[in-house]
Amino acid sequence: MLLSGITEGNPTVQRRAMAKAITLLESTRADHRLQADELLTALLPHTGRALRLGISGVPGVGKSTFIEALGLYLIEQGHRVAVLAIDPSSTVSGGSILGDKTRMERLSVHERAYIRPSPSSGTLGGVAEKTREAMLVCEAAGYDIVIVETVGVGQSETAVHGMTDIFCLLQLPNAGDELQAIKKGVMELADLVVINKADLEPLAATRAQLQIQSSLRLLGHHGNPEHDPHDDRQWQPTVVQLSALQGQGVAEFWQQVSRFRQLQTDNGRFAAKRQRQAQSWMWERIEAGLRQRFRDHPAVKAQLDHTTEQVLQGQLPASTAARQLLELFN
Ligand code: GDP
Repeated sequence: MLLSGITEGNPTVQRRAMAKAITLLESTRADHRLQADELLTALLPHTGRALRLGISGVPGVGKSTFIEALGLYLIEQGHRVAVLAIDPSSTVSGGSILGDKTRMERLSVHERAYIRPSPSSGTLGGVAEKTREAMLVCEAAGYDIVIVETVGVGQSETAVHGMTDIFCLLQLPNAGDELQAIKKGVMELADLVVINKADLEPLAATRAQLQIQSSLRLLGHHGNPEHDPHDDRQWQPTVVQLSALQGQGVAEFWQQVSRFRQLQTDNGRFAAKRQRQAQSWMWERIEAGLRQRFRDHPAVKAQLDHTTEQVLQGQLPASTAARQLLELFN
């Protein structure tokens, strides 16, 4: 029922089925998880055809303004657009940096758009897992552009990079920001850097564009295998200027995304990246699952506090402690 509602339903039925499916995916009950896994397996043949676009940037850089402008532009071009979010603040405090309720007012009421706020609890890995699964639901429902948004704090960029085809970093037209991104290692994840609010400081925006373009070339030289600057058959990270507020530069941005998709499809990297992502996702979930089972194991549980104390007191080397605990886990 849920399956056909998602893949075949009329818009109202579909929306309801999607919400139900995503709620099921987010549930922590074991019987729900079983149902959710069955549903995902059934949905899988209907997925994979969408373009998955990751968008990140610090609070206030203009993400929601940009996503709304882009989403409305894409709908005008005949696309259907889903927007999902990973809000790392929600995993720590239950609060929200992304503040989803009042955002993207015009896009959120559009019948060709689907907006889902960040799952609101659990570890970052758990939240990322739910989002990845919600993405599959959206794809099966025929949304051909899936945008996954996150905030430029913490590790959430890596998670979004790991589940999207193209990762875009929004920046303000000043260089301090750029240094921050380089320091945190986020810049080298970016396939496309967007200097937003170019309307406010056109000169600074152009300066930032040139600076970041050359930083990216340098980062490419320093061994990010995804961006080899000597290989002209593959995509080179690119910087564009934009005013999300005025809707300027949105079409050019989309041109670059389309060029990226074409180039990476032709050279085989598009499909290879998805395979890599699926494989590392599987391993990341195996490791998370193992860690949880380890902690829940009765013999380990009985010993863990004592052994930890011994390590803290300097009575037992950490590596020996780990080996002893692992011995108990079988
Ligand atoms: P987010 O926190 O990254 O989602 O940022 P918002 O989209 O909420 O934008 C933060 C503020 O910047 C809002 O007041 C927007 O109106 C403003 N803003 C966003 N994009 C632009 C732009 O291109 N130019 C100007 N002048 N203001 C913008």
